[in-house]
This record gives sequence, C-alpha cells and structure tokens, in this order.
Amino acid sequence: MIQEIKEIKRIRIDTNSILFKLWKYFVSFAALILICLWIFQTVFLSSFYETMKIHEVTKVGNELRNEYDSPDFETKISNYANTKGFEIKVLDETGSWVYPLRLFDEFVERPRMIWENFDNFFGSLKRENRTYKIYTVRYENLNDPSVIYAGYLGNTNGEDYYLYINSVLKPVDATVDVIKRILLIISIISLGLALIVAYFVSKRLSNPLVRMSNTAKQLAQGDYNVKFKKGEYSEIDDLSNTLNYAKNELTKTIEMRKDLIANVSHDLKTPLTVIKSYGEMIRDISGPNEELRNKHLDTIISETDNLTNLVNDLLDLSKIESNLEETKKEEFDLSEVIYDVIERFKVNKSCSEYDFEVLVNGDSNIKADKSKIRQVVYNLINNAVNYSPHNKKITLKLDGDDKKTEFHCIDRGIGIKEEDIEGIWERFYRVRNNHTRPEIGTGLGLYIVKTILEMHGFEYGVKSKYGEGSDFYFIATK
Ligand code: ADP
Repeated sequence: MIQEIKEIKRIRIDTNSILFKLWKYFVSFAALILICLWIFQTVFLSSFYETMKIHEVTKVGNELRNEYDSPDFETKISNYANTKGFEIKVLDETGSWVYPLRLFDEFVERPRMIWENFDNFFGSLKRENRTYKIYTVRYENLNDPSVIYAGYLGNTNGEDYYLYINSVLKPVDATVDVIKRILLIISIISLGLALIVAYFVSKRLSNPLVRMSNTAKQLAQGDYNVKFKKGEYSEIDDLSNTLNYAKNELTKTIEMRKDLIANVSHDLKTPLTVIKSYGEMIRDISGPNEELRNKHLDTIISETDNLTNLVNDLLDLSKIESNLEETKKEEFDLSEVIYDVIERFKVNKSCSEYDFEVLVNGDSNIKADKSKIRQVVYNLINNAVNYSPHNKKITLKLDGDDKKTEFHCIDRGIGIKEEDIEGIWERFYRVRNNHTRPEIGTGLGLYIVKTILEMHGFEYGVKSKYGEGSDFYFIATK
C-alpha cells in the first residue's frame, strides 16, 4: 500500500517585511477612521443634532420676529410650520392663542397656555429685557425633549404679542439606531475592503524594493551583469541609479584588479625572460668574448632598469592610492626641480642625444608637495623622451605671475591621436604600437601624474597633434 505523505507547507508571514508593515499601517489607518466615525456617531451625534435643531429654530424664530409687521406674516408662519414641522403660535400677553385659530375659536374662549408655563417662557423675557430665549424642555407626557423658542414680537394696540415655536427632538434616537446599523455594515465592508486593497497597494509599493534586493543578492553572488531596474517612484529611481553606479564602479575596480595582475605579471615576466636568456647566453656563448659579453650584459642592465622602473611605479601608485603619504605643501622654485630632473636624464646614456630647453618667464615659485611635483615633472619628461624618436628637442616652459605658475612639457614626438587623448590618464593605458622602446612604458606614469595633480587641485591637460608632438601642462595655483 502506497501511503501518500502530504507535505503541509506552512505559510510563514514575515512580520518585518515592508509588505507586511505597509499593509498593517494601511489597515490600522482604515480602522482608526472607522473608530473615529463610531465615536463621533455615539458620543457627538445627539448633541450635534440638538445644536443643529436649536440653531434652526432660532433662525426661524428671528426671521419671523423681523417679519411681524409684514402683511404676509401669517402665511410665513404656516409655511415654516409646514416645511419644518414646527409648532408655531402667536400669543397675547394673557397667554391666549392669537394665531393659528381653529374654526370656532373666535366665538368660544380661546385656548390659552397654562399661566405658569407662559410666565416661565415669556415673563422672563421682560424681566431680563431680552427679545428671545431658547429652552430645551422635557414634558412629562412626551418621551422626547423639545426645543422651545420664546420670542417677543412687539406691541400692537397697547398689547404685547409673543412668538412660540416648539420643535420636538424626536427623530434623533431612531435615526441614531438606523445610522448605527448602517455604520456597522459599512464598517465591516470597508474593513474587509481595506484588508484586500491594502494588501495590493502594499505589494505594489514594496515590489520595486524586493526586486532591488533580489538583484543585489545576484550581484553579491558575483553576477556583475545585473542591472538595478527603476521603480514606480523617484526614491527608488535614485536608489537604483546609485546602486547601478556603485555596481559599475565595483565592476571597474574588479576589471582593473584583473588588468593590474595581468599587466604586472606580463611586465615582470618579459624582462625576467630576457635577463634569464641573456644570462644563459653569457654562460654558454659569450663568456670568453668580452665584446659580445658586454653587449649581453648591457641588455641585462637595461632590462633590470625596466624592472626597477616598473616596481618603482607600482610602489608610487600603491602609496598614492592608499593615501599613506600626506601632501606636505611648501614653497619652492619649480625651475630648480626641472633642472634637477633634467640632470638625471642627462647622466643616462640613452638620453644623451636629447636637447632640453628650459624657458622661465615670471615667477616660478609654487606652493606644493615638492617630492610629488618632482615625480610629475619626471614622468612628463620621461614620456616626452620615450615618445620622441626623431626630433629630440624637448622644451620645458614656466610662465608665472603672483596667482599661478603654468608648467609645459613640449615635445616634437609622435603625438597622440584624438581618440586616445581621453584614455591616456587611465591606469595601464598604453596607446598601441607607438612605443619607441616598448619595453619601457608601464602605463602608470600619467595615472600617477593625474592622481598627484588632482590631490593638489591643480588644473592639468594635454594638447597634442598626432605626428607632430605633445604639450603636457599643469597650472599650479598659489
Ligand atoms: P607609459 O608608461 O606607457 O608611458 P603613461 O601613463 O605615462 O604610460 O602614458 C600612457 C600612454 O600615453 C602612453 O602609452 C603613450 O601612448 C601616451 N603618451 C604619454 N605621453 C606621451 C607623449 N609625450 N607623446 C605621445 N604619447 C604619449
């Protein structure tokens, strides 16, 4: 017998999720509104109704008092009595009804108000010198209280006349009962609707965030092709822009790290291979032959120089990037640094044919980190030397005033194509096939220059024409 085992899946509600929280807030909000409605209708509705009634009776009473002299006064009374359902009477000073009169009232004794009541309502008007008063009265024989308006109409033929309006507050309890029932039904329906609508609204609001968190998880697992999608509202758009930017930067850094390892291992391997093979050649072939041996040894020395250059550049780079060294600003003469650097090139045998021209105009003092600026000058001159295979004249120009000093390193070498100009400042960027001595470049020189100049806040750049030469410059502010 095959036993069917059913797996009972429990639906787990994440009470910390934004979906649940939004839903909870929406439903609480709906419940709060319903509670307010209930409180209003049970606590305030009766007194609100009474106030409204008093207001209405007072308005009608005052309007009728103002119309007392008009010829259609009686029509107005019956109109109000009919439309508003009020009991309206006009009494004389003895408490007898003057209006409305029933059929035989002219001939029999007119009905009159109990004197005690009359005195209570109207006597106090005179005593307190008021034109009208409002009372809420509960008569013994009636269940519902009444709003009574007692007003003074005026004196005609030596007799005072009074206006009496009675409106029963009767419908209020019955109405409240009906309203209560309706409200109960409305509350149940609207609470049910709120539960459903709030769920969908919350889902819609939280969806972009859930999507974003899923994308972030993918990114964390190493999928760098993900894209954070924009949401339905601007905060999510901002967040997705920021995350996309961060992702791009992260991807770039990872690419750079890969490049760095690939470049460095390549750049280390090539000279090492050359050194090894020349070493072997000396051992096996050129050992006794002094001329050939020296030639091979020169190659080994020059390859060692390349390696030293690379290692130095890498060290500079890591120092600059990790911000280990702070910029120590001091005032110094930039032209001295230039002469100093040129001397270093001149002692190098391979640079002996270069013609260095220095033009100093105006103030050549600047305030900066001397050793770092020396490195900038060195790297720029080094490039000018490297990329000037034929015309070996290199001009170093300084143009200064009391606000700034401009430095230019001008060569008449191979120049840079326009499409390459933007890239040359990046790490390990090397324009393809243009090295006069390809083994020399590390692709780090200009990146180091850029980092140092940006550290100082100095403007920098290059003007170059392919095939004619380049002018690298920076402007040191004081
Ligand atoms: P590299 O060690 O390769 O010279 P850099 O960062 O100093 O690295 O320069 C990056 C690239 O910019 C070089 O490979 C070269 O193609 C180009 N470049 C730099 N300076 C010059 C120059 N003075 N003339 C022509 N091209 C240059």
